[in-house]
Amino acid sequence: MFWRVITFFSFQATGALGGWLLDMAFHGIHAALWGGWLGAVLWLMLDTSHAATLLRCLRFDMPPGQTLPSGIWGDVFDRTLRLLRSKDNAICDCQKRLQDFLSALQASPNGVILLDSQNRIEWCNQTAAAHFGLDARRDMAQTIGNLVRDPGFATYLASRNFEEELILPGRGHSPHLPIRLSVQLYPYGGGRFLLLSRDVTALEQAEAMRRDFVANVSHEIRTPLTVLTGFVETLQTLTLSQKEQEHYLELMAQQSVRMQTLVDDLLTLSHLEGSPVPDSETWGSIPILMHQVEQDAQALMQSVFGHDRPHHLSFDCQCHGVVAGIFQELHSAMINLVSNAIRYTPPGGRIGVMMRPLPDGRAVFEVTDNGPGIAQEHLPRLTERFYRVDRSRSRETGGTGLGLAIVKHVVQRHGATLTIESTPGQGSKFCITFEASRLRLNEYPSEKFV
Ligand code: ADP
Repeated sequence: MFWRVITFFSFQATGALGGWLLDMAFHGIHAALWGGWLGAVLWLMLDTSHAATLLRCLRFDMPPGQTLPSGIWGDVFDRTLRLLRSKDNAICDCQKRLQDFLSALQASPNGVILLDSQNRIEWCNQTAAAHFGLDARRDMAQTIGNLVRDPGFATYLASRNFEEELILPGRGHSPHLPIRLSVQLYPYGGGRFLLLSRDVTALEQAEAMRRDFVANVSHEIRTPLTVLTGFVETLQTLTLSQKEQEHYLELMAQQSVRMQTLVDDLLTLSHLEGSPVPDSETWGSIPILMHQVEQDAQALMQSVFGHDRPHHLSFDCQCHGVVAGIFQELHSAMINLVSNAIRYTPPGGRIGVMMRPLPDGRAVFEVTDNGPGIAQEHLPRLTERFYRVDRSRSRETGGTGLGLAIVKHVVQRHGATLTIESTPGQGSKFCITFEASRLRLNEYPSEKFV
C-alpha cells in the first residue's frame, strides 16, 4: 500500500515538475496543475493495465509466458492463486474420498441403492442393477416402485415399516430356476433410504434341503419304530407259542438292523461332510483294497441270499500300484456300488467288478450288472439323499437310500468322478474314475492304508 501511495504521488509530482519547468515562462502554476493531472492519469492507466493482467491470469489460469506485475497487484494475484489452489486441493480430496467410498459400495457383494425421500434412485451399484434389472445410468432419478414391479415390494414400500426384510423373486426367477432376493430398506439423513438387496437363493435351498432331510430321516426311522412297537405290544399282550415268539423276535431284529444301518449311513455322511479333504500324501495298495471289497461282497451275498449264491460275481484287478486317499472311505464307496449290484440284480445275474488303468494314466473302478437297469430320467437324481427308483426293493434288501450319496461324497473328496450308465431291462454300469495325479500304478506300497 505504501508503494502504491508513493508511486501515485511521485507520478503526480513528476508531472507537476515537468509542467512547471516547461511552462514557467507562459502560465506558471496552472501548467504544474495540468502536469500533475496528467501524471495521475498515466499512473491510473498503468495501474489498470496491472489489474487487467491479473484478471487475465485468473480467467485463463495463468497463460504460459505471462509475467506477473510487481507490487500490490502481484501480491493480490499471488494470494488469490494460493487460495484458489488450496480450495481446488480440498475439492479434489473430497472427490477422491467420495470415489473411494462409491468404489467400496460398488465392490459390495450385496446390492446397494440410495433413494431420495421420494423413493427416486440417486445411485446404485452393479450388484443391485443385476438384482433388479436396472441400468445404473438410465434409471437414475426414476422411482424405484416403477422399476421393481413386484406387488409384495409395492406393499412393503407403502407400509413404511422396514423393520423386517422382504423376500422377493429375483430377476429371471422361474419354477425350474428359482432366484430369491432378500430386500430391506434403512432410513437415513434427510428422509432418504438405503435399499440393500442380497441373493438368498442358496440359503433358501439349503434351508429347504435341511427341512426335507429332517422329514426324510424322521420318516425312515418312524417306519421300523412303528413295526417294533407293534411287535412289542403283541409280545406283551398275546400268549404266543415258542415258535411264534421266535418269529416275531426275528422280525424285530430285522427292523433294529434297519435302523442301525440308517444311523450308520447318516453318521458316515455327516463325517464325510465335516472332515477335511483327504491329502494326496497317504498312499495305499489297490490290490489290497480290491481284495477287501471282494471279501466283503462275498459275505454280503451270503447274508442277503444265504448259501444259494445266486449271482455270478467276478473280480478283476488290473492295477497293481497305489492310490492316494483314505482306505475306509474308498472301501465304503466301492462296496456300496457292489452291494447295490448284488441287491438289485435278480438271482442268476452276472456282476463284474474291475479296476483297470486307462491309456492317459487314469484308472477306473467299474461295477457292471445285468439287473433291471434304471430309466434315464432317474440318473441325475440317483445321488440325492433318500432318492430311490425302486422304493420297495430298496427297503426289502435293507437299503437306506443314502448309499449313492455316500459314494458321491467320497468320490468328490478324492478328486475322482462318478459316472452312471444304465439301460432299463439290460443292466447298469457304475464307474469311479481316479485322476492320474492320485495314482502311482507301477509302485508297490510298503505299508497299508492308514
Ligand atoms: P439304496 O440304499 O436304496 O440302495 P442308493 O443310494 O444306494 O440307495 O441307490 C439309490 C437308488 O438307485 C436305489 O434305491 C435303486 O433304486 C437305484 N439303484 C442303485 N444301484 C442300482 C443298480 N445296480 N441297479 C438298479 N438300480 C439301482
